[in-house]
Amino acid sequence: MTTLIVSDLRKSFDGVHAVDGIGFEVAAGELVAIIGPNGAGKSTCFNCVNGQLRPDTGSVRLDGRELVGLPPREAARAGIGRTFQITAAFGSLTVRENVQAALIAGRRRMLSMLPVARRLYVREADALLDLVGMRALGDATCGALAYGDLKRVELAIALAQDPRMLLMDEPTAGMAPSSRRDLMRLVHGIAKNRSVGVLFTEHDMDIVFGYADRVLVMSRGRLIASGPPDAVRADPAVRETYLGTA
Ligand code: ADP
Ligand code: MG
Repeated sequence: MTTLIVSDLRKSFDGVHAVDGIGFEVAAGELVAIIGPNGAGKSTCFNCVNGQLRPDTGSVRLDGRELVGLPPREAARAGIGRTFQITAAFGSLTVRENVQAALIAGRRRMLSMLPVARRLYVREADALLDLVGMRALGDATCGALAYGDLKRVELAIALAQDPRMLLMDEPTAGMAPSSRRDLMRLVHGIAKNRSVGVLFTEHDMDIVFGYADRVLVMSRGRLIASGPPDAVRADPAVRETYLGTA
């Protein structure tokens, strides 16, 4: 079973201890939420796990393989997937073309070879679009999609590289509550059916406590609590520092 093991992770910016010695594990098929106030260090932690940032110290291992020092592209090859917002350039491509581009895995190349690339990975792209419920909109231009639909395409793009661990930093930000639940239900199903571990951050506590198998609570770069949702919700330190209802 694929496991992500993060230990003693630290990252400072000009003396600010953004991530100050944290460790945790995510197992295959497990949904783990990181919560904490703005500035707690959640995004920095994500960036260290996928190679976007190099941590000052610590280790990030996937199935025993050390990932610290690998650039994001190599971390992705090793199995760390991540959702990214579709950029403006790719907004002009269709839904299917965006997923094909991710399957080709050289997205710049896709743009220059578009006439040829359009014929590549059509079936694979459609299978991923089926998975996220976007097949019917495969020919729509991404720039014209509703926000919730775009989030599904972003998920299909992340899945195109067949990740073992998927990082989602605030995946439902800006969505209406009902679309948030739809997206997380989808992510939950994918995690369980494909045995993909999911690490996500989220501000909506209904989502966190409704979909996470385990919750990690960060405050000022440190983990102040972790465990099953019910235990974390009842933790006095968490209620005081985060939920604000001591
Ligand atoms: P969160 O995602 O939990 O809101 P961040 O990881 O974005 O927290 O930020 C943690 C701390 O690190 C904050 O104090 C933030 O200002 C600081 N920080 C994050 N990224 C940078 C950066 N690139 N340069 C300087 N400081 C940063
Ligand atoms: Mg953040």
